[in-house]
Amino acid sequence: MENHVGNNAAVIESPGPGGAGDAHSLLLHKQLLGKRLHIQSVVRFFVAAGVAVTALGAKYVAGIDELDVPSLLLLALFLGLFNIGTFAATRRYRGVQQTAASYRVLQGIMHLTISVDFLFLTFGLWLVGGAKSPFKAFYLVHVILASILLSPRAAWLHALFGYGLLSGLVVAEWFAIIPARFPVGAVNSNTPLDGRFVLTVLVVQAFLMALTVFLVTSLARLLREGEQQLRTANTELGRLSNMHRDFFHIALHDLKSPVSAAVMLLHGLEAESEPALSERQSRWVSRLRVRLNELTGFLRDFEVMASLDAADLTAHRDEVDVGALLRRVAEDHEDLALTQGHRVEVDAPEDLPRLRATERLVYEAVANLASNAIKYTPDNGRIVLGARRSGAALRIEVIDNGIGIAPDDQKRLFHEFVRVRRRDLLPRKTSGSGLGLSIVRRIAKAHGGRVGVESELGKGSTFYIEFPLTPAAPAPPPGNQA
Ligand code: ADP
Repeated sequence: MENHVGNNAAVIESPGPGGAGDAHSLLLHKQLLGKRLHIQSVVRFFVAAGVAVTALGAKYVAGIDELDVPSLLLLALFLGLFNIGTFAATRRYRGVQQTAASYRVLQGIMHLTISVDFLFLTFGLWLVGGAKSPFKAFYLVHVILASILLSPRAAWLHALFGYGLLSGLVVAEWFAIIPARFPVGAVNSNTPLDGRFVLTVLVVQAFLMALTVFLVTSLARLLREGEQQLRTANTELGRLSNMHRDFFHIALHDLKSPVSAAVMLLHGLEAESEPALSERQSRWVSRLRVRLNELTGFLRDFEVMASLDAADLTAHRDEVDVGALLRRVAEDHEDLALTQGHRVEVDAPEDLPRLRATERLVYEAVANLASNAIKYTPDNGRIVLGARRSGAALRIEVIDNGIGIAPDDQKRLFHEFVRVRRRDLLPRKTSGSGLGLSIVRRIAKAHGGRVGVESELGKGSTFYIEFPLTPAAPAPPPGNQA
């Protein structure tokens, strides 16, 4: 996630750890079954309360005297009690992993709850007017749920079951097998059922339920097919990406050996030929050395990038003494800084807390920022490597008084291969792969931290990394993050 703070600062944040493990074998809608069932059971508590409140309101506020409130309250009570069971049963299956592990159990719970809901609904419908009640529409809710969450066959079976209950109730009321309850107010009149009306209700309801199952299952099937296609495309992408990575490793390895050999041979040539080389030849050799150094730098950046993609490098954590690490980075960059007349200072208090992190990676990140500061600061600059506690994080800063970065460019810098040329501010030629800052970003992410920059064009920059001091859990491999 990218977040821009003010005009002169950009900060890149890490998303939290994720990953679904085994659950990848289930399609997304199936992975969510546990969560949906749980939500449904929460909703069912509200329905039970709603039945009770509506019954009381209908009788004592709206004045529907014939309403059998005690039976409706009993119905609400049983619904609530039944729901305590489903709530407890589905609670532990809310996660994607748990759903994957117990998918069959959840399906069973789903079948059971839809069937039991139909029974409660039919009983409730009988109390509030049966065939005449507008509450008949509630059958569709369960039909829709079954059509979305279950297979088409199961959805049809549930619809048939619900329809069977409804038509059983209506026919039984019609033939007076059970007493018809028509509380006037909830229904229009308490006259006996008309055969033609019964037939109309049965036909309309059959048509509505069948149409609903047909439409919703067709839509759900289309969505699932789309999801399946996406999943296949994703697998193919993963395969191509692995191929690409393997190729990258091989190419990197094959390039590194000849470049190292060329550097060594060049050293040999310089050592043995001087002073026999002409001035022109010496110039060529020194240009060749610069080019080879650039190439070595490129290859090194690519190698670090590839290694960051390859594995969970943060699985091993050290207790890092950040002050000592900054001093080491300063020492290692001293010679380079001196060639441009820069002063490198370290500003870290003695009592800094230790950082639980992969030391090698933290070093790599700070070294990248330090070499950038040296590179992008005109001669005789001042560079400070600082660290301090900032809330629950440890903040490492690399401050320079170099060329600075325009606000628009700040947003892009942390992405791969982005380089910004400012020949007007820095006459010296700089080389680079455009990978350094994205390596820093990945390292911060791998530790659950974030990177950012505050900068003003022509005045200087402060690049910082904030590492959480007590990471809750190791983050996933950096390559797997968004
Ligand atoms: P590279 O240095 O190899 O070009 P980076 O990813 O390290 O790649 O940096 C990307 C770009 O960010 C650089 O090309 C440069 O324009 C800018 N940049 C990085 N650090 C600084 C800095 N300290 N001051 C000014 N610009 C910087």
